[in-house]
Amino acid sequence: MTLHVNDISKSYSNNPVLDQVQLTIEPGEFIALLGPSGSGKTTLLRIIAGLQFADSGSLWFDQIDMTAMQARERQFGMVFQNYALFEHMSVADNVAFGLKMRSGKTRPSKKEIAKRVTNLLEMAEISHLADRFPSQLSGGQRQRVALTRALAIEPRLLLLDEPFSALDTKVRKGLRKSLRDLQRNVGIAAILVTHDQEEALEMADRIAVMNDGRIEQFDTATNLLRNPATPFVADFLEGLSNYMTEGAGI
Ligand code: ADP
Ligand code: MG
Repeated sequence: MTLHVNDISKSYSNNPVLDQVQLTIEPGEFIALLGPSGSGKTTLLRIIAGLQFADSGSLWFDQIDMTAMQARERQFGMVFQNYALFEHMSVADNVAFGLKMRSGKTRPSKKEIAKRVTNLLEMAEISHLADRFPSQLSGGQRQRVALTRALAIEPRLLLLDEPFSALDTKVRKGLRKSLRDLQRNVGIAAILVTHDQEEALEMADRIAVMNDGRIEQFDTATNLLRNPATPFVADFLEGLSNYMTEGAGI
């Protein structure tokens, strides 16, 4: 399924925050929204999620018009910087939660849920944490659980807003690789919001460089570095030519 973001604009009390933003995300693709603080990344992601609504423009998922659809109908998985896990539930129960909450016919059997949770915990390399509670986890482990939980519902798209920015460098690097591996294994498209140039260049198939509510350039890391479309892009990515790779570096 391909997500089409068409001419999305949004203002807060006459201050434009997004100005005719246009993006396409192909099946299985990993996209980064990269830009300085205040450039509109979170607002765009929240509009894609259905947590906020645009003033104008539309969102289509293949032939499905999602512009006015509520967040839960969209069936997207989400991970934020401080993603709240259910503190009173074990890791395994956190991951199973979305599946258990499914209605009637779409809810897998208890046995199937248990099997899927076991597989996911294994893929995310957190099987050994299955019976722990969130208070017994490190920050990096919590985000691993959050990510696994988001993937458990087999979302149509994975949305991530600065999911690693509260973690220290070493943990962050390990998680980037795990996220990329998991996303490839599951085979769904993902959009990562980040202000970290290295993170975007290392992880994403294509990067939308945002500035002041506009996308300055939407391209591969190599093209952004080799042929920056605007002075802003050139300046924002200055000194990062070692990330010139074919496709994602991870
Ligand atoms: P980023 O995620 O790139 O840091 P945001 O999307 O959070 O940017 O914010 C973009 C701009 O919109 C900022 O100037 C911010 O102050 C403004 N903004 C975001 N949310 C609101 C809101 N609910 N009300 C008013 N202004 C907002
Ligand atoms: Mg933000």
